[in-house]
Amino acid sequence: MVRVSRVIREGIAAELGIVPGTELLSVNGRELSDFLDWEFLTADEAVLITARLPDGELVEYDVERPEGEPMGLELEPPTIRRCANRCEFCFIEGLPQGLRKPLYVRDDDYRLSFAYGNFATLSNLKERDFRRILEYRLSPLYVSVHATPWEARKKLLNNPRVPNIVEQLTRLADGGIQFHAQLVVVPGLNDGDVLEQSLTDLWNFGDAVLSVALVPVGVTQFSHLYTGQPMNEQNARRILARVEAWEERALAQRGDRWVYGSDELYMLARRELPDAQHYGEFQQIENGVGAVASLRERVRTGLSRLPRLDGRRIGVVTGASMAPLMPALLAQLREQTGAAFELIPMVNSLFGPTVTTAGLLVGADIRRALAGRDDLDMALIPAETINDAGVFLDDESFVALREELPMPVYPSYDFVDALALEGQLVAA
Ligand code: SF4
Repeated sequence: MVRVSRVIREGIAAELGIVPGTELLSVNGRELSDFLDWEFLTADEAVLITARLPDGELVEYDVERPEGEPMGLELEPPTIRRCANRCEFCFIEGLPQGLRKPLYVRDDDYRLSFAYGNFATLSNLKERDFRRILEYRLSPLYVSVHATPWEARKKLLNNPRVPNIVEQLTRLADGGIQFHAQLVVVPGLNDGDVLEQSLTDLWNFGDAVLSVALVPVGVTQFSHLYTGQPMNEQNARRILARVEAWEERALAQRGDRWVYGSDELYMLARRELPDAQHYGEFQQIENGVGAVASLRERVRTGLSRLPRLDGRRIGVVTGASMAPLMPALLAQLREQTGAAFELIPMVNSLFGPTVTTAGLLVGADIRRALAGRDDLDMALIPAETINDAGVFLDDESFVALREELPMPVYPSYDFVDALALEGQLVAA
């Protein structure tokens, strides 16, 4: 059973009389267990839906809908499949105590992998899940492989019952499923022969493995499980050298790079980040692969949309890892707008100095950066620091914090978004 949370006015569901709280029981005689069943079983043009209305009445809807017209309803969010692993580097194990509860949920859910690109290890897949993935063709999936040699993967996932990932991927690939893979690289565990073997195994899947991202292990000051070596410049350089050898082979044999180092890996290695062309279709941008190149590209192509802001003083809050890359971008913005930009790099007060990502700064960091700065006319903060509900990771409300600060504060993904908006406000 899946329950309706919202009905779109004038949609098919509203016309049928479906209301929020209605339980959708089956489609064409097949029971519904989650949103995947609903999406796939209602894909046909003619469907018979059995439902229970909130007052308990059982109803059947015989629906014929024009091709492509949505049913016009939303479902309650699914119960998330929890992770059975205990990786030493798990970011959730590295969270401080006292944050809001949903942040501590360790999801490992192939359904969210398909629907939203969340990475899943597939270590909790049951036989029924395999059959669903194959029947519904849930492809591509985003898979946290980490290592293909079985013993190494058990150690990395800190779970002796982890299934053999090569066998799992083989079964799925034989059924036409494709994958984007990620390997979190832990020095001493999967950065040498294990990494080479893993890349070889993934390469041998041919077109089934669409891309592979290598992400350096990251720990916070609260990562109490982690016993591995730290990722340093030397390790990052060694890993990038291996990435480059594989890139060369992939470019020659299949026309794309196939394997990518994450932005963080380049920064740790103190290497220049590649340009946008390097990343093709930015297949793993959500995984921090090509995010800087994409930002640079958006600034470059967005400059012509920016207004003159001569004499304005604009503060730009960022994390330590982005700080060295910012002056070049801010110089372009200054030239185009005439504004003076001040870079304000902040240390993360919640996670500690090892967490340098701008998007993980918290409300308290923004306050420290901007409180009392009456000399600034406006400030830009990373938009990724605020969730859909408008709160930072430390539960500070963006709206409340903005009220406290002496200048207008704009969440911004690429500067161009906020500065163009400011220009419209000035013009109005
Ligand atoms: S697979 Fe590992 S890193 Fe991912 S949620 Fe589970 S324990 Fe954490």
